[in-house]
Amino acid sequence: MSDHDQSLWLNTCREHVDSTPLTDDLTVDLAVIGGGYTGCSAALTAAQSGASVALLEAHEIGHGGSGRNVGFANAGLWLPPNEIRTHLGAEPGNRLIDLLGAAPGDVFDLIALHGIDCEPVRNGTLHCAHSGAGFRDLENRHAQLKAAGAPVELLSTDQAGQRTGSAAFHGALFDPRAGTIQPLAYVRGLARAATQAGAQVFTESPVLSLSHDGDVWTLTTAQGSVRAMALIQATNAYHRGMPDTAPAYVPVYYFQFATAPLSDNLRASILRGGEGAWDTGLIMTSFRLDQDGRFIIGAMGELGHAGSSAHKAWAKRKIAALYPQLADQPLVQGWHGRIAMTSDHIPKITRIGPNALAAHGFSGRGIGPGTVFGRQMADSLLRDDPALLPVPPVEGYRESWTGLRRAYFETGAALTHLIKARF
Ligand SMILES: Cc1cc2nc3c(=O)[nH]c(=O)nc-3n(C[C@H](O)[C@H](O)[C@H](O)COP(=O)(O)OP(=O)(O)OC[C@H]3O[C@@H](n4cnc5c(N)ncnc54)[C@H](O)[C@@H]3O)c2cc1C
Repeated sequence: MSDHDQSLWLNTCREHVDSTPLTDDLTVDLAVIGGGYTGCSAALTAAQSGASVALLEAHEIGHGGSGRNVGFANAGLWLPPNEIRTHLGAEPGNRLIDLLGAAPGDVFDLIALHGIDCEPVRNGTLHCAHSGAGFRDLENRHAQLKAAGAPVELLSTDQAGQRTGSAAFHGALFDPRAGTIQPLAYVRGLARAATQAGAQVFTESPVLSLSHDGDVWTLTTAQGSVRAMALIQATNAYHRGMPDTAPAYVPVYYFQFATAPLSDNLRASILRGGEGAWDTGLIMTSFRLDQDGRFIIGAMGELGHAGSSAHKAWAKRKIAALYPQLADQPLVQGWHGRIAMTSDHIPKITRIGPNALAAHGFSGRGIGPGTVFGRQMADSLLRDDPALLPVPPVEGYRESWTGLRRAYFETGAALTHLIKARF
């Protein structure tokens, strides 16, 4: 693990899940590969329904995107409702919009039900306009979301200034359905709840090979194996090994930097309502406070390469521009994570064999969607009912030019941050 994998969330996580590597040969109803939101939600759902479940994680629970993200439990996808309908068709599109509109409620209900110690704050999120054009984009989103029944509110420049504590914005879109969490603690809490419901969770157990004989799947690890009647692969952007079932996506890195806990005075001047916030910039900026009052800023980009010092310099300048009172605050921790983007920004469910599904491509919005997709995939497989899936499954999914597109995103982000840090 490099320094840039050491997230703040690892330092501040109070949730723990008991697990060991797999050293046995097991037979279960459902095998799950990957211990992120998708896999842990699937394991929890299946165990609660009485099925026998084994979840295999290559590293620790939350090693992937689920332990590194910003922690915004948002409603819906990045795409506004009309674009979701355009990509999926009216009826499947409306179903996905409804399921994911309810996703933050599902997340906060699970947190309450299982007593997950993950700093839950359900005070909404603010999508902030970085320019006049950004505000027009928010007006369009507001109209579409309202028409779809979402209780969103468009805020003026003054209102956005009061809510964020920054004079930088031209207005904002407030979504009261959403909130913030400690993302690693949430996924560990899901895994703990799954074990309490009877699931067997194994860590440091990368699946090395995957095969099926008729309907029976066999997963092998270094020291054991699992035979199962159904399989969910939830490895997403952190997939390793198993080349035949590797998901196709464009890898996009996103970094974050955190200050030390702020003084009470400083803390009271920023996002007083406890919302999570991000802006409409093409190279988006996210910002929030954690429970101890650390200010956390994030944007697209990868740390740990020759040009990545531009990202930290940019973060300091951006913080000073948003909140001049924070200009002298050192950034004490930085980390990054990999996002699986699909070209149309719609998550994919792929059939990878008999009674076997894989999900990936949440495109930067996986807390609510991962929770919902994992639950629905487990239900669908165990009840043999494809209609329960949140999106129509595809037989195979391909993306082209993924390497070039990754380079394009990183070079664009580094150049933008270099230019914005200099001028
Ligand atoms: C920096 C960043 C910021 C983000 N911010 C947000 C946000 O604010 N809000 C939001 O909703 N979403 C956000 N996202 C997206 C969200 O984090 C992801 O969509 C979500 O975590 C995906 O969950 P998952 O369970 O599908 O995959 P992951 O959490 O990536 O889990 C996959 C797991 O599979 C394991 N694995 C891989 N191969 C094997 C194998 N062979 N055997 C066993 N295990 C294996 C990996 O080790 C990993 O733990 C962000 C993502 C990143 C990276």
